[in-house]
Parts: sequence; structure tokens; C-alpha cells
Amino acid sequence: MKNSFSFLKWVWTVVGQSIFSGVVLGFLMGVFEIFILAFRSVLTARALLIPSIVFYCLLWSVIALSIGLVAGGIAVLRKSTNMRELLMRSQIAILLPLILFMTAGGYINVSVLPSYKDPRSLAFIAFFFLLNLAWGIWIFRRGAVWFSLQWVKSTRLLRFSFLAFMTAGIGFFSYGSLDREKANAPSANISAGLPNIVLISVDALRPDHTFLGAYERDTTPHLKEFAKESVVFDNAFANSSWTRASVSTMFTSLYPTSHKNNGLGSELAQAAFTLPKALKTKGYATGVFSANAFVAPVFGFGSGVDKFYHKRVSVYGQLIMGHVLGSLRKYSPFLNKLNIFFESIEIPFLGEAGKTTKAEGLNDAFLDWTSGLKGQPFFAYFHFMETHTPYATPAPFDRKFVDPSYTGPLPNDQPLHEPFYPLTKAIALPEKEYDNLVAQYDGNIAYVDHRLNELFQALRERDLLDKTLVIITADHGEEFYEHYGWGHGKSLYREVIHVPMIVRYPAQFPQGKVSQANVQHIDLLPTILELTGIPAPKHLEGRSFASWAKNPDDPGEPRTLYSEVIHENSYARSVIDKNLKLIELHVYGKEKQLLYDLTADPKEQNPLDLKVHPESVRLKQLLDSFYKRAVGKMLGSKSVEIDQETLERLKTLGYVK
Ligand SMILES: [Zn+2]
Repeated sequence: MKNSFSFLKWVWTVVGQSIFSGVVLGFLMGVFEIFILAFRSVLTARALLIPSIVFYCLLWSVIALSIGLVAGGIAVLRKSTNMRELLMRSQIAILLPLILFMTAGGYINVSVLPSYKDPRSLAFIAFFFLLNLAWGIWIFRRGAVWFSLQWVKSTRLLRFSFLAFMTAGIGFFSYGSLDREKANAPSANISAGLPNIVLISVDALRPDHTFLGAYERDTTPHLKEFAKESVVFDNAFANSSWTRASVSTMFTSLYPTSHKNNGLGSELAQAAFTLPKALKTKGYATGVFSANAFVAPVFGFGSGVDKFYHKRVSVYGQLIMGHVLGSLRKYSPFLNKLNIFFESIEIPFLGEAGKTTKAEGLNDAFLDWTSGLKGQPFFAYFHFMETHTPYATPAPFDRKFVDPSYTGPLPNDQPLHEPFYPLTKAIALPEKEYDNLVAQYDGNIAYVDHRLNELFQALRERDLLDKTLVIITADHGEEFYEHYGWGHGKSLYREVIHVPMIVRYPAQFPQGKVSQANVQHIDLLPTILELTGIPAPKHLEGRSFASWAKNPDDPGEPRTLYSEVIHENSYARSVIDKNLKLIELHVYGKEKQLLYDLTADPKEQNPLDLKVHPESVRLKQLLDSFYKRAVGKMLGSKSVEIDQETLERLKTLGYVK
């Protein structure tokens, strides 16, 4: 009997040693990260120092503890005499290579290598993983002397840390210099008089919460002024209800089934004919300024883009950790809080600019970029994020519309929910909390309105605004429990697919006009192609709305609107034909169809009886025909191959091999 074994002492040693390893590594990593951010001239770098250190100390302590528990168990089984040394050795042998793998590996993969499903990227990840594994094994086996407690007291620790971090630092700075800023295409074929193009998505912005819907709160005073110089489309729709699918549709004029950028790990095919690539053939400089992690090169949006300013995420961090926490959060309020915490702090180590993917950061990056263009026409896609949960707008916008007498909790995120309504039902919020959640959403809209005004003023001052086609839309809307759901991407009701569409281009369009024509995200690419004189390939689903913008009194042709949202094996599809709307849901084998009369029931609250309605069969056939056509145009299939002339132009620019 080993009566010398004390469980309490064991716990004390494991926990103490784990926290020691986690805090030492976390502290160094937190400081190092801020050092990198400061080096990249991020203004908020110093303010992030404490959150960064706390975050990494917590993160690495948790991981160190799980390693410690296993190593501690082994130490007991082996009756190891120096458990503390074994713990430290195993923690450092796992954590140091893991840190390098996640940070440097993620950074290289996202910023230097092609898309993450590319064989070259996969080969690099595999190689880098093996390299780190080897390094870890080496530390564990040969590090016995180094990592003994004697050594902690000696100056070798200092020497080693210094050397390791210098090496890592040099490594990072040289990766930074490899950052792919593709040189602008030669300006030989720039035609004179081309408009600049600024396409803006305000994430999850509902028109009925702005001046467009005569909203009771004054959320968009500046946009209202801006609209006096623009054409506003009252009937604009998204063809999907979540970011990645919608932005892919804007870029390709294809429905989600066709562009296939629908799943967690999916990406836009590199061969796709996209807005930035098309504009490059005309000599445009192309930029994307995105605060939404989904609109990033890693998801295929980088092709044809000269300047991609975005929230950088590692595939490990965002996809794995985000997804794991996201799916676990429903089981525990603590995990939910942790997930919100993770979402609210951007992981600045991998971020180009940490907090500056806020609206003002996107504006600054855009203006910096255009300053260097020397008259070359530009296309910029903006994706503002403040209107998306969790709401985190600075004062005074955070409480701008919150009831001042309200002192209760101010949740900035919605309750958890599952797709798809009404097959599932999310929990409701108490009235006060509900009101304050909506008030915060509205405050965030006012904040983006304020920043948009700064952007337009800057363009005006530079004498660029009138030479620029500005289009303001949203990737989708937002649900506030109108149909027992929250958020977006989980249904196709009006609140998630009705979007703003404000178009300003005084050179060709009248000002202060409203058009009732039906327009959709699929129309954006054809419209921009028409206005820049680029021939539109035949496979595009949309049609240009330029003529309706020129003649806003033209009611447009009657059009059938088709939208889709796809989650692995579940999906919703909808078709709007004149006054009727049919939504079809398939959720894990369960199926439901909902038919609404939009004239009598614009808020889609009272589904009609499908069995007796004379139009239900026709609408179902219509829905199926749209889907069938979308399947026929799946990227990679023959029907979307681009024409020879465009292909040649893309080849000369190096986008197609
Ligand atoms: Zn979105």
C-alpha cells in the first residue's frame, strides 16, 4: 500500500501546475499578440492588452489542465517520483507546438496559401502538423533536463523563452511580408468614364426598421437624406437568408443551390464567374472590406480581389472552436456566455486589425486603399456587421433607443434556436427584454447610418461620390419572433428576405425616386455588368435593373422571386408569384408547405389551406421548376461555363489557368 499518495495533494499539484503553465504561456502570447497588432499600426492595440492576456491565460490554462489531468494520472500509475516535472514537460511539449500550429499555421493558411480545401493548403497543414508533432515529441523526450524545476530557477528559462519568442517573432514578421496583396492589374485597358462602384451590405438590416418602412424610431436620418439623391426599390429581396449564401448570390447571380456556398465548410468555387473577376476584365481595382468572418478569402470570396480587408479567422479557430461552442452552448448557460464572449472578442492575433473591422475601420481601410489608386476605377464591396448580434455598439448608440427607466438586464443576443420555423419553435423573451433587444438592434442601425454618412462625406470631399455607383442593401433581414424564431438563416419569411435597395448614380439615375419594380440579389451582377459595359454570360439568373432605376415610374415586369436556405439535409425554399407565396420546408425528414396571400396577409401570419386553394398545385410546380433549374446550373456543371472571350480575358489576368 502506498499510503503516501494523497488525492488532495495530487489535485493541488495538477491544478497548480496547469495554471502555472497556462498563465506563463498565456501571458507571453497575450503580450506578443499586442506587440504584433501595435506593429501593424492598430490604434486599439494597447486597449486590447489586458483582454488579450486574460483571454490567453484562460484558454491555455483550460487546455493545460486537461493535459495535466491525463499526465497526472499517468504519473500516479507509473508511480513517478517527480510528477510536477512530468506535468510541465507534457504541457509544454503539447502547448508550444499547438500554439505555433494554430497561430502561424492558421495565418499562413488563411493569408498566404490558396483556399483551405486546395490540395496545396491541405499538404501544408499536414506537413506543418507533422513538424509540430516532431517538435513536441522532441521537447517531451529531450526536454527532461530543461524542464525540471531546477531549470525554472535557472536563467535558462529566460534564455529559452527569449530565443523561442524571437524565433516566433521573426517568423511572424516574415509571414506578414508575404501577405498576399496582389498587384493591381495593368491599367492598359481602362476605359475612360467608367463609374466607381461601391456595393454595401449592412448585415441583417430590415428595411422596416429604417426610414424605408416609415419606422417609428429615427434610426436612419442620414440614409434618408442620401435617398433624396437616390432611387429606392421598395420591393427588393434576398435569394437566401444568411450571409455566405446571400453574398455568393450577389457575386455570381446564381441561386444557393447553384453556387453551393451553403455549408459550414463550403466555399465559392474558384472557377465561378464573379463580380470582382468580371470587373477586373475592365481594368477595375477591386476591394472587399468585410467585418463578417464568413465574407473572407477562406470561403472563396478572394478570387479577383486585389485588396481584401477582413476579419481574419483561422480555420481551426472559427470553424472548429466556434462550431463546437456554438453547438454546445444550448446545453449550458455558461457555454452560451463563453460563446458570446468568443464571438464578441475578435481573436486579434489572426485579425488584420482586431477591433477595426468595426464600421470605422472598414471606412478607413477603404479610403486608404482608394488614395493609392491614382484614378483607376474601383469596385468596393462593404460588409458592415454592427446590425448583427451580439450588439456591441459604443455609446451613445448602444442605449439610444433603450427605455431610460429600464434597469434590468440588457441581453445583446437572442435566445437559442433551431431551424426551421414553424417546425421548431424558439423560446420567447419577456416583454421588457424583447423591447430592449429590438431597441439595441435599432441603436446599432443608427450607428451604421452614422458611419455610412462619414463614408459618403469622405467620398464627396474627394469629389468621388458623383462618379460612383453606390448600392446599399442587406444580405438578409432579421427575425424578432414574428414566426416564433430569432435571427436569420432559418426561414424565408418576409422579415428575413425583404431587404433595402438604395441606388445612387446621378450620372444616369434620377434622384429622390421610388421604384416598385421587383429586384433581387441575383440582379446585382447583371446590373453592374450593364453599367460598366461588360457582356453578361448567359447563365446568370438575374436581370439588370438599370432601366428601372433610370425610369422609376416603370413598374417593371411581373417576376417570380425564388429564395432558398439550406442546412445540410434540411432546407427551405420559397417562391413569390404575384400575390401568392409558397414556402416549402424539409427538416430531417419532416415536411411542410405554407401558402400565403400577400395582399390580404402581408405579414404571412395566416397560411391558406393548400388542399383547397386553386393555385397551390401551380405554385408547387413553379417552385420545383426553379429548383430544377438551379440544380442544372450548379457550379462545376457545363451550363455555367463562361464564354470564350471572358475566359481569355480572365486568363490574361491570371485568374483562370
Ligand atoms: Zn448576414
